[in-house]
Amino acid sequence: MQAQATTQLTLYSPLEGPVCPLENVPDPVFAGRILGDGVAIDPINSRLTAPCSGRVTQLARTGHALTITTEEGAEILLHLGIETVHLKGQGIYPKVREGDRVNTSDVLIEFDADYIALHAKSLLTVMIVTNGDRFDIIRRDNSSTVTTTTPLLILRERSTVQNNIPRNTATGELSCPVVVALAGGLHARPAARVRETARRFSSQLEIAYDGKRADCLSITALLGLGVSEGEQVIVYARGIDASAALDAMAQTLQTHIETEAISAVATVNTVVSSHAAAGVIKGICASPGLAMGVVVHWDDTDVVETDSLNASHPEFELERLTSALQQVTAKLLARVAKAKEAGRDTEAMIFDAHMGLLDDPQMRMQAQTLIQQGDSAAKAWQKTIMAQCQVLAALPNPLLAARISDLHDLKKQVLRVLMGKSEKALPVLPQNTVLIAEDFTPSDLEAIDRQRVTALCMKSGGPTSHAAIMARSYGIPALVALGDAASQLASGTKVVVDASAGCLETVPNAERIAEVAVRQSQAALHQQNILQNAAAPAVTTDGRLIEVAANIANISDAQLAAAHGADGVGLLRTEFLFLGRDSAPSQQEQVATYQAVINTLEGRPVYIRAIDIGGDKPVAYLPFPLEPNPALGLRGIRILQVHPAVVETQLRALLSIAPLSACRILLPMVTDADDFVRLRTRIDTLAQTLGIKEAVSVGAMIEVPSAALLSSVLAEYADFLSIGTNDLTQYTLAMDRGNPGLASQLDGLHPAVLHLISQTVAGARLHGKMVAVCGALASDPVAVPVLIGLGVNELSVEPGQVPSIKQLVRKLDYEKCAREVKTLLGLASAAAVRAHCRRVWPL
Ligand code: PEP
Ligand code: MG
Repeated sequence: MQAQATTQLTLYSPLEGPVCPLENVPDPVFAGRILGDGVAIDPINSRLTAPCSGRVTQLARTGHALTITTEEGAEILLHLGIETVHLKGQGIYPKVREGDRVNTSDVLIEFDADYIALHAKSLLTVMIVTNGDRFDIIRRDNSSTVTTTTPLLILRERSTVQNNIPRNTATGELSCPVVVALAGGLHARPAARVRETARRFSSQLEIAYDGKRADCLSITALLGLGVSEGEQVIVYARGIDASAALDAMAQTLQTHIETEAISAVATVNTVVSSHAAAGVIKGICASPGLAMGVVVHWDDTDVVETDSLNASHPEFELERLTSALQQVTAKLLARVAKAKEAGRDTEAMIFDAHMGLLDDPQMRMQAQTLIQQGDSAAKAWQKTIMAQCQVLAALPNPLLAARISDLHDLKKQVLRVLMGKSEKALPVLPQNTVLIAEDFTPSDLEAIDRQRVTALCMKSGGPTSHAAIMARSYGIPALVALGDAASQLASGTKVVVDASAGCLETVPNAERIAEVAVRQSQAALHQQNILQNAAAPAVTTDGRLIEVAANIANISDAQLAAAHGADGVGLLRTEFLFLGRDSAPSQQEQVATYQAVINTLEGRPVYIRAIDIGGDKPVAYLPFPLEPNPALGLRGIRILQVHPAVVETQLRALLSIAPLSACRILLPMVTDADDFVRLRTRIDTLAQTLGIKEAVSVGAMIEVPSAALLSSVLAEYADFLSIGTNDLTQYTLAMDRGNPGLASQLDGLHPAVLHLISQTVAGARLHGKMVAVCGALASDPVAVPVLIGLGVNELSVEPGQVPSIKQLVRKLDYEKCAREVKTLLGLASAAAVRAHCRRVWPL
C-alpha cells in the first residue's frame, strides 16, 4: 500500500473505565513518554480488546503486554497494569498469539482485575504509539470515562517518504526470540556491543521486552528495557539484510560476557563484616587495600544549577549543543586512545561506552525537542540526562542503576563545555590524599593526580560502578556506599581506609596509626629491596642469565624502564606516535622520538617495532579497505601493501638512530620466511642507499602460528625472534583477544601455545639466535618459570614489573624449570598447566 500523508487511523479504547493522562502513570518510562505518546485507562472491566485491526507482532511471555502493528505500520503497545511483569502471567489470560491477525474490539487478553490490583503496582493500563516518529496523535477524546466503542485517539501518518522505507522492502520484518546470556543483562557495555552489532547492518534492528521496544542503535533505549540475564527478548529486523542482522544480533545477545563488574560484587560480599565499631564508617569494598592519609572533599560544584540560564534562539541553542557534544566526544576519543596506549583496556572500554551514550539518538532527540520547546542547550541537556537517570533508577537491576553515575559524568562534561568551563580546574592535592566524594565519575578519576591519592571514598555508588572498576585497575583502595557520615569529616582529618575490610576509620588512635604505618613500611621495604637489586642481572640459581627488558609505549615509559633497572626495551610499540592525530608523524618527528628513547636507555638495546596498525588499532587518516575480519587482514607488516610510504618513512627514521647498534628493528605479524625476507631486503637496500656500513639488526615477531612452526627456516634470516604471546594465543586458540566473553579462556599458558613457543626456541637454536617473549605472558609470575624452562632468553615486561620479575628469576632453577616443562607440554588445558605451576612454584 502506498501510504498517503493524510492517512488517518482511529484507536478505540481497549478497556472501559476512567481515562488517565500518561504523565500520571506511576512509572517513569510511561509518564516520561520514553516509549512514545498515548493514554492510560483505569479498567472497570476485565477484557482488553483490540483498539484497531492489525497483527499481534509482540506478546510478552508473561502475557501482560502486546503490540499490534496496523497495516499502515503504526505500532500500538498495550501494557496491562504497571509492574505486572512480576506477576509472571498470574491472573492474565491472553486470547491471542504472536502473529495473529485481529480486528477492532477482538478480545486480546482476559484478566483477573482483583488479583492484579492486589498484586501489582497499579491496574492502570496504557496504550502507546511506539513509533511516534511516523504517526502523530492529532486528536484525543475528552471524555473522562470511556467504553470500547469510544474513538480514543486519532493518529495521522507523517509523510509518504518516511513510511516507505522499511515496510516496502522485499524482505519485510523478521523476528526471533532470544534468551539474553550477557552477564548482568543489557547494561551499558553489553548495550554498546548490541549497538556495534546493529551498526554493521543497514536493516533496522529492535529489541522488544516487557512491552517495550528499543532501537538497537539507542543505548539509553536498550538500558530502559531493563533486561536481566536469562530473560527472553524478541529481536526484530527490517531491511534488505534483515536475516543476517537478526542472526548476528541473536549471537551477540547469546554471548555470555562475564564482566569485571559482576565478579566484583562477589568479592565485595566476602569482605564486608556487619558490625561497625565507634569511629568507623562502614562501606563496601570497591577496590581492596590498606591506606592512611588526610581527608580532602572532592568538589565538583563548578557545574552550577542551570535553571538560571536563559535560552537564546532555538537554532542557536541547537548549534551550541551539537558543538558541545562534538567537543566532549573528541575528548572521549582521546581518552580511549590514551587508555589503549597504556594497555588499560577496561578504562578504554568505559570511555568507549560513554561515547556510545553521548551518540545516543534518543537522548539527542529528546534534548533537541526540549530546545525547540524553549529550553537553553544546558537546561535541555540536564533535563534529558535526569529523565534517563530516573528511568534507570526505577529498574530493579543494580548493574543498570550503577550506570546513573556515567550519565552524570556526561551531564557534567557537556555542561562544562556549554558554560565555558571546558576543563575543571583541578585542585592541587596533598600527598596521601583520601579523596571523598558523593560518587566519582570515570572522567574525574582519569583527571586527578593519582600519584597523590592513597584511597577513594564514595558516599554512594556501588562496586559495579565504572569508578569502582577504574579504582581497581589503578590499584587504589576504594570504598563505596559510605553514606552521609563521610561528609561530616573535616578536611585534613587523618583517617585509615581499610578497604579490604570495608572500613573507613575516622579516629584511628596512635596504636592503630603505628600498626598501619608498620604494615605499610614493611611493604615499602620489600619493594625497596627489590628496587635496590633492580639493575643487577637476573641469573637463575644455576647460573642462566635471563634478560629482563621492558615493553614501552612512550618516552615516560622509557624513563620508568630505565629507573626500574630494565636490561633494555624489549618492545617499543611505535603506534603511540601514529594514534590520536590527524596525519602521520614526519620522519623528523619520528627520529627525535626514537632517539630520545635510545638516549634514555643509555646504550641498552631497544627493540623498536615497525608500526603495527590495522586490526584492533585503526588509524583514521590511514584508510584500510573494508575487511570482514580485520584481525586476519591488513595489519602488521601487511600494511606495506596499502601504505608503503608510511613504512618507508618509518624505516628511514629508524636507520637515522645513533648508535644504530642500540636499535633492533622488530617486524610484526610475520607469516613466514618469505614474508620476512621481503622486508628485510628492503631495509638492507635502504641502509646501503643511505651509506650505512654497519649491519642492521632485524628480527621477526612470532605472533602467527605459521611463523612459529617454520621458525627453523625463519631464524636463518632473522637476527632474533620475539614472541608476541598476545596474538600468538589469539591465533592459535582462534579466540578474539578483544572479546571479553572469551577473556577467561584466552590463556597463553595453553599447552598448544607452549608447544609453539618450544618449537620457536628449537628453530632459533639451530641458528644460534636468541628468543624473547614480549607478550603479556612474560609479565605473569606464574608463567615466568615456564618460559625460562622452554629456553626463552629474554622476558620483556611492564616497566614497573622489571624489579619483581628479576627477583623471581633469581629464585628459579633453570634445569628444574626445563624438566617440569616437559610435563606441562603433555597436559590437557591451560587450567591444568596453571594448577601444576602453582604446585611446583608456589608464589
Ligand atoms: C603480542 O601480540 O603479544 C604483542 C606484544 O603485540 P601487541 O600486543 O601490541 O599486538
Ligand atoms: Mg601483537
